[in-house]
Amino acid sequence: MSRIDLHLHTTYSDGSLPPSEVLALAHKAGVTALAITDHDITDGIPEAIRAGAELGIEVIPGIEISSQFQESELHILGYFLDWKDPVLNQHLAGLRASRHRRNPLIVQKLNELGLALTYEEVKTLAGTESVGRPHIARVLIEKGYVRSAKEAFDRYLGNGKAAYVQRELPAPAEAIGWIRAAKGIPVLAHPTWVRMDEAGLLKLCETLKAAGLMGIEVHYSTHKRAQTAEYLNIAQRLGLLVTGGSDFHGLTKPDIAVGVGCGGLKVSGKLLEPLRAAAG
Ligand code: AMP
Ligand code: ZN
Ligand code: FE
Ligand code: FE
Repeated sequence: MSRIDLHLHTTYSDGSLPPSEVLALAHKAGVTALAITDHDITDGIPEAIRAGAELGIEVIPGIEISSQFQESELHILGYFLDWKDPVLNQHLAGLRASRHRRNPLIVQKLNELGLALTYEEVKTLAGTESVGRPHIARVLIEKGYVRSAKEAFDRYLGNGKAAYVQRELPAPAEAIGWIRAAKGIPVLAHPTWVRMDEAGLLKLCETLKAAGLMGIEVHYSTHKRAQTAEYLNIAQRLGLLVTGGSDFHGLTKPDIAVGVGCGGLKVSGKLLEPLRAAAG
């Protein structure tokens, strides 16, 4: 049974490896198809497709968009989208601009807490337009203020922590609509991040389905066995597609590897055909 990985980040957003290196790791892990799902940017997709063609790996164009639902962030993945679509890319440019409005405010808070860094340093390290908190975390590591990205998030950058600043985010229905308008398949990412019981999550997924959601990321690096079963049950009850991926980022999530997540992840290639059939 072939192995796939439908959730991967590269240097085009907050991953630490370029697409070609992510593809090389996927090849080593025996991955036969994958999706590049950078935050708010599609620029890494052509490089990934080129590398995939050389290695015999199918590259599915993808995206990950954060949205705001009540107190929590819902991340919406998009698959098989027309990644060159000008309207989609206009929306993504707007999201990247909102990052550039928020990030200097985070840096300012860190400065007030006595940590010396500038937003210029963060942008230089990032080397991309889609600059995120993991880039700030890496600057903090390089400067010796924290030992890991986890420590940076736990102490400063995580939601509600000392240097947290909220970013302007679209509503889930907006992000879903943008993906559908670009002929993509919108999927709710890592439901474990949504702090709700099964009934609450079922209701949420019903609402999102009415807004155009087509799938749930059932298989994920940090999903426990019982969670995977719960999310599969919700997908089956609502007739939603099932997807899975590692959410590989390289350095900022060092415990997560391409294709295998924390070691036990196995996303079957059989999931791909229903997705492909639904795309359009
Ligand atoms: P941003 O999109 O800039 O608000 O940053 C959020 C991103 O940071 C998420 O999409 C994750 O990729 C990453 N992230 C969130 N929490 C952590 C954590 N504890 N450790 C490492 N990365 C994290
Ligand atoms: Zn990320
Ligand atoms: Fe996410
Ligand atoms: Fe992700």
